[in-house]
Amino acid sequence: MDQQELVAYFRSLDRSFFVEGDMKKYAGLDGPLPIGFGQTISQPSLVLEMTRLLEPEKDSNVLEIGTGSGFQTAILAKMSMQVYTVERIDELMEKAKKRLEALDFSNIYYKVGDGSNGWREHAPYDRIMVTAAAGVLPDELVNQLANGGRMVIPIGSSAMQELKLITKTDNGEIKTKTVEMVRFVELKGRYGWIE
Ligand code: SAM
Repeated sequence: MDQQELVAYFRSLDRSFFVEGDMKKYAGLDGPLPIGFGQTISQPSLVLEMTRLLEPEKDSNVLEIGTGSGFQTAILAKMSMQVYTVERIDELMEKAKKRLEALDFSNIYYKVGDGSNGWREHAPYDRIMVTAAAGVLPDELVNQLANGGRMVIPIGSSAMQELKLITKTDNGEIKTKTVEMVRFVELKGRYGWIE
């Protein structure tokens, strides 16, 4: 991954474009902000850090779970070949899609549904980014990660989680590294929290 390209693109993205109404004036702060439906746009410094951990490459097939505002999606799409992004709240997905289309991305594919199941049709994925908190590591996402792939996912209680970097070796062996404590909204669904 080209770190300079990542940082330059991250800095060029106007976060106020991804939030609405009163929240626009807080877009420059390094914190999460409400985007409606009890959901949040993530803290920008954490988005950058999680992208660095994921290490998307220009030929990466990427799965993102939790499209939210589309801010993280834009960064992933800029840094990889294509992004399959899944969001469970269709109103949020509709808004995110409009924003990402306005930014001229043509390498993003959108699905409304339970992303804790992944998106089997386009697997395996070289990279999987989960931006909502899982209680346990979802088996389906591990199955859909390619050998040599990387996944970034917060795992823990609904109050606090450990940010995990999951890697799959070329032989299919799973390795897990804990990076830091984080706080995300719940990943709902079959492999997440009950809706
Ligand atoms: N990365 C996003 C951004 O930059 O705006 C923020 C994502 S927000 C912290 C988490 C998102 O995950 C919410 O929009 C929520 O609706 C979504 N979500 C929760 N459970 C989900 C599931 N099972 N499948 C898909 N999306 C889910």
